[in-house]
Amino acid sequence: MKPNKTSKKEARHISLVYKWIGGVLMIIAASFAIFTATIYSVVNQEFLRQQTSSSQNVVQTFRSRLVKVNQRLTVSNVVPILSPNTERILQGEAGVKRSTEDDDKGEDVVNDPVLAVLSNKDLHITIYNDRGEIAFTNDNHPQLLSKVKKAKRSQVVNTSSGKVLRSKAPIYSQRSHKLTGYLVVDNTMPAYNKVMKRLRRGIFIWAFIALLLSAIASYALIISFVRPIKLMSKVARKVDEQPDSSDRIPDLHRRDELGDLSVAFNHMLDRMQAYIQQQKQFVGDVSHELRTPVAVIQGHLNMLERWGKDDPKILDESIKASLQETDRMKYLIQEMLDLTRAEQVDVQFPHAVTKVSEVVKRVVGDMRMLHKDFLIQLDIDNLPADTQIKMYNNHLEEILIILIDNAVKYSTNRKEVDVSASVSKKRVDLVVQDFGEGISQDDLQKIFNRFYRVDKARTRAKGGNGLGLSIAQKLTTAYHGEIKVESAVGSGSRFELSFPLLEK
Ligand code: ADP
Repeated sequence: MKPNKTSKKEARHISLVYKWIGGVLMIIAASFAIFTATIYSVVNQEFLRQQTSSSQNVVQTFRSRLVKVNQRLTVSNVVPILSPNTERILQGEAGVKRSTEDDDKGEDVVNDPVLAVLSNKDLHITIYNDRGEIAFTNDNHPQLLSKVKKAKRSQVVNTSSGKVLRSKAPIYSQRSHKLTGYLVVDNTMPAYNKVMKRLRRGIFIWAFIALLLSAIASYALIISFVRPIKLMSKVARKVDEQPDSSDRIPDLHRRDELGDLSVAFNHMLDRMQAYIQQQKQFVGDVSHELRTPVAVIQGHLNMLERWGKDDPKILDESIKASLQETDRMKYLIQEMLDLTRAEQVDVQFPHAVTKVSEVVKRVVGDMRMLHKDFLIQLDIDNLPADTQIKMYNNHLEEILIILIDNAVKYSTNRKEVDVSASVSKKRVDLVVQDFGEGISQDDLQKIFNRFYRVDKARTRAKGGNGLGLSIAQKLTTAYHGEIKVESAVGSGSRFELSFPLLEK
């Protein structure tokens, strides 16, 4: 089937690195933008508020003079009214002289507010008459009235040299209340323009530095997260291709969740491979164990077919031998089933309770009956009669039978088995000791493995198949118990069991 458009889209692989860095940069850029926009707007508004207020003062100063003119504003009536000193200065005379009768308030040149405004190169004053003709200006490039007529009382205008605060006021004659002209004050606000320019430049530079630094820092951080994940997926892929691969995640030297995950991951692989290996081994061992009896039965049947039908001796021998082998097979299959069941006991008997002394006495009694030539001693002096453990009693019986049976099977000259049971430190200890052939140190590690037999030929002759101890161990650990063995070749073996005591 052809992949459709959506599945193609889903399949696109985007590295965590890009997603993380993209996310971090977006968050930082957004926070930076909000933060700087707030600062910028506060500074801008505060600055403009101050500038607007000083422009309004200027408008007020000029208007208070211009309202005194009763006709249309012209050069000849505006200049004298603004200030006699101004007129003098504009005519190129010295202005330091005290003004006389023309000056309404008797101001001198130094204190004349109109002159102070006119000598300020940042303030451009233009006075128009009601027809839009310029009656006065100190602006090198005055605007046409038609252009500024629509302007609000005070507004910021963008020009090539920066922002200009333009304030406009109509002038009405004080006496006739007629419109005589317009006053326009352009405040070029150099300080404002300079500060705002520096602020903008600063914001861009710092935004760039902040984004660059956070990109570097988040890259370093995400790489340190992604590296172990990449290692894990590499190892997982390798093990997927080669299930018995010994590849593992190397020590990450980190004490965090990723470190824990890599340890758990390696542990899981070890367990999984051991389990697979065990299964393989089990299947191999079972087929090997079953092959011999099947081959024996087949051999006898062949013999019967050729000569045995008429020879009662061969017939009898072959049938006996075949029955013996089928018995072995039945026993083997039963033990294999026991082994499988032993792994699931905790689910099957969650509430079972066993009185230890009863079971021990019963098993020892049975074994004494079966092996009359053996001295089987029982020591339960340190076992209170009502001692109990959480266990299904048939299972304790089964474990003891396996151990005592082995002790008998692998005894040599001294036909004695000592069994004891006692309670100490909230545990119940059981011991089965013999004085037989013993087990070498090498074999001690392996006797609990399935199908392991120290001497294959000999134990087979004794009826062993190497499953007894592994069943005993599975059952013991299923009930949270422990099984240990100590042995010396030629002197005997001592198997110790220990189970948690069930307290009343
Ligand atoms: P088997 O059915 O062969 O006895 P087990 O699992 O019970 O299987 O025991 C595994 C092997 O451990 C035996 O084949 C035997 O070699 C050795 N073994 C077990 N118990 C004893 C013992 N008490 N003394 C010496 N060897 C023992």
